[in-house]
Amino acid sequence: MDILKNYNLTKLNTFGVSVFAKLFIELDNESKIKELFLSSEFKNNEKLFLGGGSNILFTKDFNGIVVLNKLKGISIIEENSKNVFIKSMGGEMWNDLVTFVVDHEYWGLENLSSIPGTVGAAPVQNIGAYGVEIKDSLQSIEVYDIETGEKKIFKKEECEFGYRSSVFKNKLKGKYFISSVTFKLNKKQNLNEGYEVLKKYLEDNKIEVKKPKDVSDAIVCIRKSKLPDPLLIGNAGSFFKNIYIDSKKAEEIKLKYQDVPLFEEDQNIKIPAGWLIEKCGWKGKRIGNIGMHDKQALVLVNYGGATGLEIKDFSEKVIASVFSNFGLILEREVNLI
Ligand SMILES: Cc1cc2nc3c(=O)[nH]c(=O)nc-3n(C[C@H](O)[C@H](O)[C@H](O)COP(=O)(O)OP(=O)(O)OC[C@H]3O[C@@H](n4cnc5c(N)ncnc54)[C@H](O)[C@@H]3O)c2cc1C
Repeated sequence: MDILKNYNLTKLNTFGVSVFAKLFIELDNESKIKELFLSSEFKNNEKLFLGGGSNILFTKDFNGIVVLNKLKGISIIEENSKNVFIKSMGGEMWNDLVTFVVDHEYWGLENLSSIPGTVGAAPVQNIGAYGVEIKDSLQSIEVYDIETGEKKIFKKEECEFGYRSSVFKNKLKGKYFISSVTFKLNKKQNLNEGYEVLKKYLEDNKIEVKKPKDVSDAIVCIRKSKLPDPLLIGNAGSFFKNIYIDSKKAEEIKLKYQDVPLFEEDQNIKIPAGWLIEKCGWKGKRIGNIGMHDKQALVLVNYGGATGLEIKDFSEKVIASVFSNFGLILEREVNLI
């Protein structure tokens, strides 16, 4: 086993924060998992599974072992007249999987185009965009128990998926390594254009959707126009989660701000965190090397050279400001390490 020491993680997190891992290993073969998990280097150290590092903020060096997921392979495992079942190893980049299924004209993942990171990390926070979440097409997940190195399968119902959450982000956090994910996709058109921005884009550009690629291309364009590219400006996408409030709180906010955008979802009312942040004057605001992006108030950016602690401190200022103005507590979507 090739375990490296004092490994630089700067290029392995999209914030571009400069930190080191005490121990580091690239996992590129499933057959090596058990041996690694039973090794003393793994057993006796704090562990962190890393994919694309696009949902992580390192606030200090990692005094343990980082396992970088490099398990590759995408295969069609079963199909019938309506559906196709696709298994992807967890180290595949999410967008490579989306490109594969879109090119094969299978429906289900097209709205999730262009999301950074790996397939193995995607169920951890139940990635979502433009009205679709991974849980909508996920069939099952294969994991390895970090204590025993034994393999186990989680059916979708066991994953406790919610808004940007799953059992792997909550009560089973850090207990399992996700090695592969199996999806159930549609062979027939199953368009989800429910999300207003997508619907408008398709209408404005007179796009008649015939293939998943029509939707995928639209999503790529919309995202490019709004989100900063982490290769150019360090960021981890949305830094905070949207907030769900009750009708009393919604009325209270509406009295003060008639323009508040509120969305009813399954008897809950969603208030966009980006709107709250903007109303508090943070959109486009920069302090030193850190700021909230000028096109998307939810995205916290590192203009270069900021430390993880500085980024965390900045995020606390935003949280305090939203609390003092609205009495609402912003929750971070990004994992703090
Ligand atoms: C520009 C940009 C846009 C984004 N847009 C979206 C979006 O539209 N929707 C959305 O939901 N997210 C979005 N994100 C966030 C991010 O891309 C997703 O959360 C993604 O799934 C993270 O994948 P990763 O491989 O980079 O995970 P990492 O950042 O490497 O890890 C995230 C967490 O998962 C754990 N983990 C990673 N791999 C495994 C594994 N194999 N087994 C167990 N645990 C694991 C890690 O320990 C960590 O806690 C965006 C990020 C960026 C930078």
